[in-house]
Amino acid sequence: MTTSIADTAPLLIGGELRPATGGATFDVLNPATEEVIGRAADAGREDMDAAIAAARTAFDTTDWSWDHAFRARCLRQLRDALQGHIEELRALTIAEVGAPHMFTTGPQLEGPVADLGWLADLVEAYEWVTELGESEIMGVRSNRSTRPEAIGVVGAITPWNFPNQINFAKIGPALAAGCTVVLKPAPDTPLIAAAVARIAAEETDIPAGVLNVVSSSDHGLGEQLTTDPRVDLVSFTGSTATGKKIMAAAAETLKKVFLELGGKSAAVVLDDADLNSACFMTALNACTHAGQGCALTTRLVVPRERYDEAVEAAKGAMAAFAPKDPNDPGAFCGPVISAVQRERIEGYIALARQEGGTIEIGGGRPTGEGMERGFWVEPTLISGLDNSARVAQEEIFGPVLVVIPHDGDSDAIRIANDSPYGLSGAVWGTDPERIEKVVAGIRTGTLGVNGGQWYGADVPFGGYKQSGIGRERGREGFEEYLEIKSVATPA
Ligand code: NAD
Repeated sequence: MTTSIADTAPLLIGGELRPATGGATFDVLNPATEEVIGRAADAGREDMDAAIAAARTAFDTTDWSWDHAFRARCLRQLRDALQGHIEELRALTIAEVGAPHMFTTGPQLEGPVADLGWLADLVEAYEWVTELGESEIMGVRSNRSTRPEAIGVVGAITPWNFPNQINFAKIGPALAAGCTVVLKPAPDTPLIAAAVARIAAEETDIPAGVLNVVSSSDHGLGEQLTTDPRVDLVSFTGSTATGKKIMAAAAETLKKVFLELGGKSAAVVLDDADLNSACFMTALNACTHAGQGCALTTRLVVPRERYDEAVEAAKGAMAAFAPKDPNDPGAFCGPVISAVQRERIEGYIALARQEGGTIEIGGGRPTGEGMERGFWVEPTLISGLDNSARVAQEEIFGPVLVVIPHDGDSDAIRIANDSPYGLSGAVWGTDPERIEKVVAGIRTGTLGVNGGQWYGADVPFGGYKQSGIGRERGREGFEEYLEIKSVATPA
């Protein structure tokens, strides 16, 4: 990279790295220190318009969408170029996102970069034409085939919590499928997206206009992507509230929407489980990246008769994984992204108290060295409430876990499903038959059993109910970016 993170991060439009029209910029803060770490180009509507036009032209006038071998080569080139800058990207991810260092070796950076290679392999192995054979209809004999094709221009709108994971989970399969892309990153994390844009522009053969990156402090530019008729698909990750607006806005031009939304996932502990490890691991999970993960388990559903024991085990994990400087290799829980997010979390903790809950540990701001500034929240365990409490129903997006009692396996399934969301979850137990019944009963897109990890390039991820529409990653995630054309020729 030829820039330092203190430079203004540019837009990438039509192959050109450039400032916003009029030169507007906005500051980006390090959430662990509140220091300004850089400035991002603050695009306006005309910049977004130019990016959409560039993506449309690249899709309609180049051979990007049908040259599968070239795309596979570009994806590997991008992966290799990113890997060549991995330490700069790591430092930027930690500084901009507040992501603990250890997660940058996985989903916060290295995982999704490596996964571009998996997509390149998929492009090469994919059956781009499937022969259906001969048939006769009303005296006409025909040879039929199906041909999956790129859907067109993709508007990718992403949040701030795992920006690399989510940006690449959209850019990767969209480019692999032959689409062109306009990526609009979240206003809190534009720098890491701009760094990727710079590497793609300067160090790969990805043609001009195929990948465009438009940062802005204005959420309205996301909305512009959802209404512009030149955009064929909107691929969105973010809150359920925004997802609903996007679906409504996209209806006017009837574009396909792909939505990865919020969650309130339950970890169900059966009465034959190793209770201590189940509760410890669930509390640890809830503290991961200060609870800013849509698929983290934030409801701990335990046998009523062992409730107190469960609270003690979860408390132990929260005490052991107190927030730390994200640069510390041992950090598990860093800061939250912003003052606004901290206020929102603190509002929920106050609400838990008003609802009659007990704060077993945490509930305030940590006072450790270096935490005088930055957006810190103590891992917080709430007991004494049932699943109808607002803190058990609504997504908090902070290091907050609610412990809820159940009265047997069916009751535990009922509680897990008593949520508008259906993103993820966990099951802990011993008897395989009982575990299978609970796995079948919980209506979510992913489930981990006894600590099993579903995260991987080949594993589809997404939600039931109000957690979203469609699947990201895996073969299914790639196919979201395809249309199917059926063709018949005389036999
Ligand atoms: P958000 O919904 O506020 O914003 C996400 C993105 O949408 C941002 O880029 C924003 O600028 C843009 N946006 C805002 N309003 C828009 C509109 N009307 N039209 C188009 N774009 C608009 O979410 P956030 O606060 O950035 O992220 C946190 C949320 O994301 C949480 O609810 C979390 O659960 C969810 N999330 C879900 C997943 C998943 O895969 N299911 C992953 C990570 C985060």
